[in-house]
Amino acid sequence: MTQQEFIRTIKEAGIVGAGGAGFPTWKKLENPVDTVIINGAECEPLLFKDVTLMENHAPEIIEGLQAVMEAVGAAEGIVAIKNKNRKAIERINAALKKNMRVFEMEDVYPAGDEYEVVFHATGKRIPAGGFPFQIGVLVQNVETIYNIRRALKGFPVTDSLVTVSGAVESPLTAWFPLGMSYGDVLKAAGAITAENYIILDGGPMMGKAVSDLNTTVSKTTSGLVIIDSESHLAGRKSQSEHTFRKIGKSTCDQCSLCTEMCPRYLMGYPIQPHLVMRSLLTSDPLSSSLTHWAQACCECNVCSLWACPEELDPRNVCATTKRDLRQKGMWQEAEQQQSLMTEAHPLKEYRSVPTQRLMRKLGLDKLYRRAPFREDIPSPHSLRISMKQHIGAAAEPLVSVGDRVKKGQPLARAAEAALSVPVHAPRDGVVAAVEEDVINIIPDNQPPKLAR
Ligand code: SF4
Ligand code: SF4
Repeated sequence: MTQQEFIRTIKEAGIVGAGGAGFPTWKKLENPVDTVIINGAECEPLLFKDVTLMENHAPEIIEGLQAVMEAVGAAEGIVAIKNKNRKAIERINAALKKNMRVFEMEDVYPAGDEYEVVFHATGKRIPAGGFPFQIGVLVQNVETIYNIRRALKGFPVTDSLVTVSGAVESPLTAWFPLGMSYGDVLKAAGAITAENYIILDGGPMMGKAVSDLNTTVSKTTSGLVIIDSESHLAGRKSQSEHTFRKIGKSTCDQCSLCTEMCPRYLMGYPIQPHLVMRSLLTSDPLSSSLTHWAQACCECNVCSLWACPEELDPRNVCATTKRDLRQKGMWQEAEQQQSLMTEAHPLKEYRSVPTQRLMRKLGLDKLYRRAPFREDIPSPHSLRISMKQHIGAAAEPLVSVGDRVKKGQPLARAAEAALSVPVHAPRDGVVAAVEEDVINIIPDNQPPKLAR
C-alpha cells in the first residue's frame, strides 16, 4: 500500500486522535518522520482505557505501529507507558518488532502531554506553536493506533473506548457506540453512589464538568469520572468565567508558584501564568487579559489544582486569554513564540507532580478503583451522532429520514477540500432524524421511538 492509499484508508475510516482534541489522523500522516511514538502514558487520574487496550491488544497495537512506521518512513517506534503499568509493559514488550522499544515513564502528571512525552522519550522539544513532525516525530494515542490497525482490516470507527469511574457502583472500561447518551453510559456502571453528582468528561484534571445526561459519546470521549457535586473539586471545576476572573483579579498575590510548577514553563516554553494573572489587574473591570504569556498553555491544570496556594484559577484565565487572543487577531506567530523559548529548567525533574499525591489533594484517592474491561453494556435506545467530533469542518450527511443503515456504513462524508473525516453508523438501525449537526438512529431491537 502506498502512503497515499494508506492516508485515504485512514481518512475513510473516520479516524481522529482519540486522546485529545480530535485532530484528523490522516492529516498527521502526510509528513515523513524518523520516529513514531505511541502515547500510552494516560496520566488523568481514574482513567484506564489506554492501559486496558495495551494489556488486552498488544499485538494489534504493535501491528498498527508498524503500519504507521512504514507509511511515514520512520526508522524507530516507541511506546511510552508509565512504569507502574507492569502488565501492559510486559505485553507490549512481548509483541515488539524490529526497531521498536518501550519507554517507561514515571507516574507523574502530566506525563501524557504530547510535549512531555516527546521531550522525555527523545530529548527533543516540539517547537513552540509548531508540530512534532518539524522535529521528525509523530505521536499517536494508543486507541488511535488501534483504530488504524482496525481500519486496515476494513473496520471504520463506530465506538469509543471509555472508562466510567469515580462515585459509581461498578467502574468499568468498555466500547460504547458513538452517539450513546451519557445517561445510558452511566447505567452500565450501576448505581451512582453520590446523592448529587457531576461528570468530569475527560478526567479530573483536563476534563470539563458536565451535568447534561443527553451529552453523547464521541470519537474523543475517553472517560467519565463521577464526583459528588458538593465536593471541593466539583466547586473548583464549576466556577464561572466571571467568578474566576474577578477573584483572580482581587486575590492573586503574584507569588509565581503557578509559573514555577508549570510543566510547559519548566520545559522552556513561553508560558508564565502569574503574568497572565497580573494582566487581570491592568485591564477593564472584567479583565480581558490579552497577554501572549498564555499562548503556550496546554490547560493541564497543574497551576490551578496543584500549585496555587490561594486556589485561584490561572489555568482557566490562560484558556480564556487564548480564546480572546484568537478572537482579536492577536495570536502570535510560531516564530515569535519560538524566539521566546529558553533552556529547560534545571529543576524540572524535581518538580513533577506525583499522581498519588495529586489524587489525595483532590480527594480522589477514596474513589480510586481499577475500572475493568466489560463487554456486557446495555443496548442504547437511541443514538444521536454528531457530525463534528473532530477539529476542522463538520461531516456532510449522506442519509435521509427512514433509511435503513448497517453498522459501519458511512452516514456522512468528509467535507470537501477541508480538514474533515466521515462519520459511520455505530449500529444497524433506522435513521429517525437528520438535523444540521446530528443524525439520530434508532438501533434495531429497540422500541421504535423518535429522539427529542
Ligand atoms: S500561584 Fe496563585 S497566587 Fe501565586 S501568582 Fe499564581 S495565581 Fe497568583
Ligand atoms: S494549565 Fe497552568 S500549569 Fe498547565 S500549562 Fe497552562 S499555565 Fe502551565
